[in-house]
Order: sequence, then structure tokens, then C-alpha cells
Amino acid sequence: MLFDCETFVSHLECSETGEHYPADQIANLSRAGKPLFVRYDLDRLGRAVTPELLKTRLPEFWRYREFLPVRHKENIVRLGEVMTPLLNARFLEQSLGQREVIVKDEGRLPTGSFKARGLALAVSMARELGISRMAIPTNGNAGAALAAYCSQAGIESYVFCPDDTPDINIREIALLGASTYTAAGLINDCGRFVTAGIEKAGWFDTSTLKEPYRIEGKKTMGLELAEQYDWELPDVILYPTGGGTGLIGMWKAFAELKEIGWLTGKLPRMVSVQASGCAPIVDAWECDLTHAEPWQNAHTVAAGIRVPAAIGDFLILNAIRESNGFAIAVDDDDIVATQRDIAQKDGLLLCPEGAATATALIQARERKLIDPDERVVLFNCATGLKYPMPDDSQSMSLANPPAYRDIVNRTE
Ligand SMILES: *Cc1c(COP(=O)(O)O)cnc(C)c1O
Repeated sequence: MLFDCETFVSHLECSETGEHYPADQIANLSRAGKPLFVRYDLDRLGRAVTPELLKTRLPEFWRYREFLPVRHKENIVRLGEVMTPLLNARFLEQSLGQREVIVKDEGRLPTGSFKARGLALAVSMARELGISRMAIPTNGNAGAALAAYCSQAGIESYVFCPDDTPDINIREIALLGASTYTAAGLINDCGRFVTAGIEKAGWFDTSTLKEPYRIEGKKTMGLELAEQYDWELPDVILYPTGGGTGLIGMWKAFAELKEIGWLTGKLPRMVSVQASGCAPIVDAWECDLTHAEPWQNAHTVAAGIRVPAAIGDFLILNAIRESNGFAIAVDDDDIVATQRDIAQKDGLLLCPEGAATATALIQARERKLIDPDERVVLFNCATGLKYPMPDDSQSMSLANPPAYRDIVNRTE
């Protein structure tokens, strides 16, 4: 027996109206067309588990099982959901004179991105609820995670991505067993196609925030961070925001931990980072709106955050406001330059989205939005290996090689 899955889910709840829905049923959006949150009996949960008990468990996110919705352990789909490391970004720390800069490296998760957290939960719950066919629109990483977990679970998967999704992602998704389609359009266009096919194709719509469980998976980032920081969170979290599941999920995690009394201090300021070629949340934040306008002609090298319209926009904006955070957009050129600097100076191959958070830190310091005294966490959401990389190598002949002193640039 792996473990006894005691869970404390009480009901589902509309994130806008608060209307209740029964748990343990197949669900997409609420009647108001908004995301559903999973709610727990936190009183009972807080009595059933302690931080000390967690320490006795395997270093994987299923250690937070009481905070998750899966009821039967045999439905858990596993591919090795490791706890991801906190790494020091010394180059940034020193060049900015920042008290502390930590990278949470999510590239270590199955399929090389933190989409594994959400999809592990969505697919485990699909198995629990008897779903046998799942579909998703994706910029790459979510599709790969869905394909992997579905194949492991014996569930059919159908993945639809923009035709300029990084090639390695498209190949990865198909190789992992999903029926994979690329189309001229953006993720939202692919999403409309998936939603329109629910009846005819008979698949479950696994789009970001259109089902209640991916967010519970992403919530484990907040639980894990809190545990890794010994229940005293850092001051600022910079999060590259597409659909915003992770930011919303972490904020939900912190609220639940506060409610059960494990977090007593100040919560971190949540900072939403976007690319200036697709920054609907930043625009809405700057104009003090509660919802974002759809972004036109979205483009950025940071494919994972190319999301022109997010159904959870109001939840992202709420979390930013409640936490006294902010939203900030950065240019692709700066993202690419920062990615290279950090790779060469700290040995960390960030994904462009992760490099966007580092760029945002640099620019937020210039604009005095972040204080040098604050302890900062940057989210690197995927391994840099999943993206096109520049070729900076030189070829040489071994028969007629260059002089060694030219290779190592020795002048003496
Ligand atoms: C999906 C994705 C994001 C955005 O995550 P959300 O929680 O949906 O906002 C950022 N970076 C990468 C690498 C991603 O795959």
C-alpha cells in the first residue's frame, strides 16, 4: 500500500459568486462561466496533519496529499513528482546588491516543466471520475504533461497547439502518445476548438482553469515553497504569468496554510511577469481594472506566457492586489540577454519564461518597485533545454587544428 488517501474535500465553489457545487463529480466551469475552486474542511485537515508528519514522507508533492482532492490512492498517476530545488542566483544577487535571490527550478519535474504538477492532479482526478478521453489547447508544456500522464493512466489524449510552438514540444507530445495537431492560431483559438468539440468528440476539456484540479496541482508550489522556507515565506515572488494557474494556486495555498495556522507571518508580494508582446494582465493592472482586455497580435519568445486572454484574470489581479504586489512587462531582447548572462555566470539554463522573471527583477529594482532588502524568489518553470538555443560553437579540423594558445586565448 502506497498510503492511505485521507482527503478533506468538502465541495467545489465558484471563484466569483461563491456558489457551491458537490465534490467528486466531473466539472468544468461554474454556472457563471468562472473557474471552480476545490474547498476543504480545513479544521479537520489541520488536526489530521502536522509539519512534523510531512517530514517523514517522500520528497515529492504527494506528501501534501491531505491538501489535494484525490480520494483513492490507486488513482494517483505517478511519473516521479520530485520536490524542486531552491538555487542561489549569485550573479543577480551580487550585481543587484539584493539581499537574496533564489530560483525555484521547476524544470526538474516530469516532462521538464511545472505543468506536470497541474496535469498530474487533473489526470489522477480524471481516472477517479471515470474520464477516458482528454483534450487540451497548449503552448507546448501543458500538452506534453497531459500526454505523459494520460499515457501512464491509460487515458486517450488530444493536443492542439499553435503551429509556431517550439518544435521540440510538438515532437515530445506526439512521442508521448497524444494525437497531436498544430494549427495557425493562438492558444485561445485552439481552446475554442477544444471546447466546441466536447459533445462531438466526447472528450473532457482540460484547458487551464476550465476544470478545478490543475490549480490544486499548481497549489503544491506554494505548499512546497512554504515548507522549504520552514513556514516563513520570502518577501517577493516573481511569477511568469500566462493563464495564471500557478500564481492563483500559490495564493490559495498560502490562504489555506494561514487558515490552519501554519503560516503566521506576512505573506509574500505576488508579482506577475509578462512579455511586452503579450501583457494583458500588466495593462489591466496599470489601468486598475478587475478584468483584462484580450491582447491583440500576441508574440514573445517566452511561449509559455503567450496567453492573450486568461479566464482567471480577475483572480490573478486579486492576488496581486491583496498581496501588495504588482505586474510588470519585459522585452524579448532583455529576456534573451538575461538568460545568457545567468547561464554563463551561474550555470543555470533558465527557460525564457524563467529568464523573464530575472529580467523583471532587474527592471523592478531600477523602478524602485522592489527593495534591495527583500528576499526574492524567481520561478523557473521549465528546463531551458526545451527551447531553441543559439549555436555559439565553432567547428575545427582535427587534421589541421588551430593552435592551443588561440583556443584558450593565451598571450604569454
Ligand atoms: C505554462 C507556463 C507558464 C505560465 O504558467 P501559468 O500558471 O499558466 O500562468 C510559464 N512558463 C512556462 C514554461 C509554462 O509552460
